[in-house]
Amino acid sequence: MQSAIFFETPVEVFARVFHELKPRTPVPRVQVEFCKFANANSFIRWDEGGLHVRITDVLEGGPAPILEALAHILLGKLLRRPAARVHAERYRRYLNRKDMRRSLQLVKQTRGRKFISGPRGDCYDLEEIFEELNIAYFHGLMARPLLGWSRAPSRVTLGHYDPSHNAIILSRLLDSARTPRLAVEYVLFHEMLHLRFPVEHRGARRCVHTREFKQAEKAFPRLKQAKDLLQRLCAG
Ligand SMILES: [Zn+2]
Repeated sequence: MQSAIFFETPVEVFARVFHELKPRTPVPRVQVEFCKFANANSFIRWDEGGLHVRITDVLEGGPAPILEALAHILLGKLLRRPAARVHAERYRRYLNRKDMRRSLQLVKQTRGRKFISGPRGDCYDLEEIFEELNIAYFHGLMARPLLGWSRAPSRVTLGHYDPSHNAIILSRLLDSARTPRLAVEYVLFHEMLHLRFPVEHRGARRCVHTREFKQAEKAFPRLKQAKDLLQRLCAG
């Protein structure tokens, strides 16, 4: 396994990897810029001016092997030579580290913009339903997150909990007189369980609906009926 040579600058890393992937092509001028993105995205462009690389500043000063892995991934995409699995795997593992997840969550929180409507929709008031569910299933102990309706009436994502903004967003599709209240209650209850049982990271794997989660969901009395309602709603 090849590893980065110590003391290489990011520009040198990208130039070296370029040469490895395209040994017969003169290495273009390389520019690497660390940018304050709201996520872990990185970009590469090749034009007359040379190679322009823009990397999230969360990786600035990161270990050289990680930068090298990213160079393989980005240049591989650009030159249509898919990066070896070892690079993709190394990069993914690094981003999944606890401290990295924390930094990424922080930049998302402070830099990402998020649209959050109020809890009161045309038909249903999420605050009211939240408090009912809170009393019925959480001993009234759950701190209320931001509650809102999505901008678009999505049939695919009926609800989601966004931990970086501490917000539960329900699809506007549900805020309709044709949607039985039970369906809205169930989707909100499901998202409240996500708040109660945070996503578990086991190594590189994410476990969203844990065993405890599924067990707790069974406390909802008309679970099957609610799920059937939603299935029909999503089918159009
Ligand atoms: Zn879920």
